[in-house]
Amino acid sequence: MTAPLLRMESVNAYYGRFQALHGVSLEVGEGEAVVLLGANGAGKTTLLRALSGLVRAEGRITFGGTPILGRRPEWIVRRGMSHVPQGRGCFADLTVEENLRVGAFTRRDPAGVARDIRRWYEVFPRLGERRDQPAGQMSGGEQQMLAIARALMSRPRLLLLDEPSLGLARMITEGLFQRLREINERDGTALLLVEQNAELALGLARRAYVIAAGHIERSGPAERLRADDAIRRTYLGL
Ligand code: ATP
Repeated sequence: MTAPLLRMESVNAYYGRFQALHGVSLEVGEGEAVVLLGANGAGKTTLLRALSGLVRAEGRITFGGTPILGRRPEWIVRRGMSHVPQGRGCFADLTVEENLRVGAFTRRDPAGVARDIRRWYEVFPRLGERRDQPAGQMSGGEQQMLAIARALMSRPRLLLLDEPSLGLARMITEGLFQRLREINERDGTALLLVEQNAELALGLARRAYVIAAGHIERSGPAERLRADDAIRRTYLGL
């Protein structure tokens, strides 16, 4: 069996002296879509931050077989992991197109960058219509699309998404998940998705992990977790 694209082994993470992750192990295969479920404060955002080098962590993390724990965030992006943080985080004063160019900071192929910008305008037509408008003037859903397109401008092998549906209307969220499915299935970009909307997330992902109080509590095929009574009660509200 080939090594997974991403492997976390026994990772602890800390804010000052507070330990937010306890011995977390998790894998994402090449081109795989994986969802991470958990209650508020369980450690989902911290787990993504540990992968991106944004929080103090110890243990072992490899990406494409290379150890990445302790590396700088920018180095990790160059290796092919891109992070869409919670709350989107577009540059409000920059235009849509400038935001996309910032996302391509790792690249030295202007023609390829221009091609990719056109591609994301096709996938997300609203971005094309508003290419010269400051990002801060767009709706929440449009800014979320921009944040995702910007992260994709570095051509990542793995995209980390922190609650992309937060604050979005149901219809907008469904459209967004459809685009994510295409990015996963057509481009083969692997996804690690933190998502409150468990029903949608389990529909997109092949496998799922459940985190509670900084520990991975459960993991398995998304279909199996979807059928699990405790998961249905806690995360699906059924
Ligand atoms: P949510 O769904 O509410 O975003 P989460 O599962 O993403 O929650 P985290 O944000 O990872 O949870 O937080 C995990 C734990 O770490 C929580 O107890 C939280 O209070 C704590 N924590 C998060 N950020 C910080 C910080 N900057 N300083 C100190 N403690 C923090």
